[in-house]
Amino acid sequence: MPYRRYLIDAHIPYQTDVPLSSICAMRCGGTAPLVAYPPDAATLAALLRAWDGDGIPYRVIGAMTNTLPPDGRLSYPLVSTCSMTHLTDHGSSVTAEAGVRLTMLAHRFMRMGRDVAAYLVTIPGTVGGAVRGNAGAFGHDMAEYVLTCEVYDPDTRATVLYSAADMAFSYRDSRLKHTRQILLSATLQARERDEAAMQEREAADRQWRREHQPTEPSLGSVFLRLPDGHSAAERIDAAGLKGLTFGGAAVSRRHAGFIINTGGASARDVRALIYYIQHRLAEQYGVHPSCEICILPKEESACHFPSNKNRG
Ligand SMILES: Cc1cc2nc3c(=O)[nH]c(=O)nc-3n(C[C@H](O)[C@H](O)[C@H](O)COP(=O)(O)OP(=O)(O)OC[C@H]3O[C@@H](n4cnc5c(N)ncnc54)[C@H](O)[C@@H]3O)c2cc1C
Repeated sequence: MPYRRYLIDAHIPYQTDVPLSSICAMRCGGTAPLVAYPPDAATLAALLRAWDGDGIPYRVIGAMTNTLPPDGRLSYPLVSTCSMTHLTDHGSSVTAEAGVRLTMLAHRFMRMGRDVAAYLVTIPGTVGGAVRGNAGAFGHDMAEYVLTCEVYDPDTRATVLYSAADMAFSYRDSRLKHTRQILLSATLQARERDEAAMQEREAADRQWRREHQPTEPSLGSVFLRLPDGHSAAERIDAAGLKGLTFGGAAVSRRHAGFIINTGGASARDVRALIYYIQHRLAEQYGVHPSCEICILPKEESACHFPSNKNRG
């Protein structure tokens, strides 16, 4: 493994032969030959710069709550941001490293009577994944909180500071989806808020999720809103696909936009359901639902291309 040298020299923790089902929220997938855990943003940038210099392909992951790995063995290493959890309070703003969980970010600032992405507290991912996909819930999204983003650019191997406008946020989209750039940290607005009111809203949001979303392993909503304005869940339900099962994967009966792991699902089962749903909705409604989730490729060559909305 040529990519191990830098990790050893730079004292970056890593694990080899990692079962992806132990990381991915869908609890499926094969094995990663190696997962590196840089402890902070500067170490992540230095690691990626070294690997880019050596032409080593890789993928950066957060909590894998929106990423479907393949079955079998990946041909490239992963870099997890999960140890990068520093938060710096600037008073009216906060800088969060890419691995900070949205829940942790919101709770810490709630306790201080401030609101940093509190509307997004129930989304189970990291700041990195959430900024990339402009994650949103209950009518709010990351774009309303982000002031600046510190990003590593593999093409120049430099670190760039982008304004929110530079990030080109739109519905579940940002410039990071169209480039190979990696979020190192984001500075987000902190507003004065009443802690009790925020706790009440969080409880209401959690209650809503318990009532309307499945509790089985999933990656959240699989598809983006359809080009005709309908939600994919609405169309999947209307097409009678709730409960449709392939191997261990099924369309949730509680929320038709979710595919769940009913036990022992392979990544192939999940992909087969996705393709079937896309085919049925195209046939029945003339719309092709694009994936909101990211599907990791198995081979290293694919890592060199900018990701897109469908492939991640
Ligand atoms: C039960 C459940 C409910 C959910 N509800 C919602 C919801 O209400 N709204 C919503 O928007 N999402 C929702 N999601 C999806 C998911 O939680 C969000 O999209 C989240 O922001 C993904 O973060 P992550 O750290 O898990 O990203 P990952 O899945 O690890 O990564 C997602 C993509 O981002 C890339 N990435 C990760 N870190 C970085 C980085 N630092 N720089 C550049 N690219 C990076 C990865 O390569 C991958 O392509 C839900 C998921 C689940 C399981």
